[in-house]
Amino acid sequence: MRAVFLDGRGHHEVVDDAPTPTVGADDVLIRPAAVGVCGTDLHLVIGDYPTGRFPVVPGHEFAGTIEQIGSAVTGLTVGQKVAVDPNVACGKCDDCLTGAPNLCEFLVPIGVTSNGACADLVAVPAHVTYALPDGMSMAAGALVEPLSCVLHALDRGPALTGKRVSVHGAGSIGLLAVIVARAQGASAITVVEPSPARRAAALDLGADVAVAPGDDLPARSVDVAIEASGHPAAVTAAIDLLAKRGTLLQMGVVSSETTIALRPYDLFDRELSLIGSQSLATSFPAAVELMTEIASTAEKLVTHTYGLNDYGEAIAAAHSDSALKVHLIPGN
Ligand SMILES: [Zn+2]
Ligand SMILES: [Zn+2]
Repeated sequence: MRAVFLDGRGHHEVVDDAPTPTVGADDVLIRPAAVGVCGTDLHLVIGDYPTGRFPVVPGHEFAGTIEQIGSAVTGLTVGQKVAVDPNVACGKCDDCLTGAPNLCEFLVPIGVTSNGACADLVAVPAHVTYALPDGMSMAAGALVEPLSCVLHALDRGPALTGKRVSVHGAGSIGLLAVIVARAQGASAITVVEPSPARRAAALDLGADVAVAPGDDLPARSVDVAIEASGHPAAVTAAIDLLAKRGTLLQMGVVSSETTIALRPYDLFDRELSLIGSQSLATSFPAAVELMTEIASTAEKLVTHTYGLNDYGEAIAAAHSDSALKVHLIPGN
């Protein structure tokens, strides 16, 4: 089969004769139909992702069709359309047993430390495989994983109904947060993003206001700030915007060496909550469900599609300002 391999030193190779993955008793074999490229992949390509194991087939945001099922698998059938939660946790540690499998020390993320979906076929455990409704497009199916990350972050904070929300960074995660905030009844959505193209996309997808970093915004005007850029200055700006009892949801990955200035008095004075969110915990099924309602809007995020042989072009496009979400279509 064809597969993209990353060597962790900045090179990728599309091979035609990769071995077909072995399907264990508890696994399913999937033919991926749409595979998202995200920031994690951009780091993996150049080899600076701390937990990456090389060589690896990338691709952790995907939807496809079941080609084969393991002998012990029940509840899934050949030919079914599915999406996959790529975070395969141990299921036995304290984190797993207390609803935080995303923090499991034994996590094996598909497409990061085990082979992913940038291939004609991928084998994954059945328990992370979720059936998609018949009418859902593969593009929408491949967006369920990033949507799950947004839902997990929102699960960690207060309900958005009637809340004033800001989103810092309008990449695909920030834009999905805009769509979800609208769907969940936020009263006002402000987006802070340097790229004019992405600000325009944010307005199109439901934001009320979109400004560049540094532009004036009313002070203390936000109840929930969703930080999805990973830029330290954006974190500080987000905290500054928070109204009394406001909540920061930190989704963006800031370099582990970076520190920011924080006045603990602000936490006291305004009773602020600062909450972190990493990847997704148990939100995948809820994201499948929500996607049935928002698919036609979410699909607008997919601005570029490429075949497997054009992996290099796909990565270049994902670095560009004009790309919101790049999808690989392995069948092409
Ligand atoms: Zn991702
Ligand atoms: Zn665990």
